[in-house]
Amino acid sequence: MKVRIDKAACVGNARCWAVSPELFPLDDDGYILVEEVEVPAGMEDLARRGVRACPERVMQIMEDDNSQ
Ligand code: SF4
Repeated sequence: MKVRIDKAACVGNARCWAVSPELFPLDDDGYILVEEVEVPAGMEDLARRGVRACPERVMQIMEDDNSQ
């Protein structure tokens, strides 16, 4: 699973980071640092929570093709 992030639309409120600083690193100004996150095994639920926590909806879950 990956998370795609529209960095340009981030408003820097750090809601994602509050869920998981490891999955959603921020820059010094509090904006998301990465455009894509490869979610480690076992952290899928945390990733989904972080994506839901973003009030700007700038993040999107990309499920693996073979995950059915
Ligand atoms: S929750 Fe969304 S808007 Fe806020 S820092 Fe994270 S990606 Fe940016």
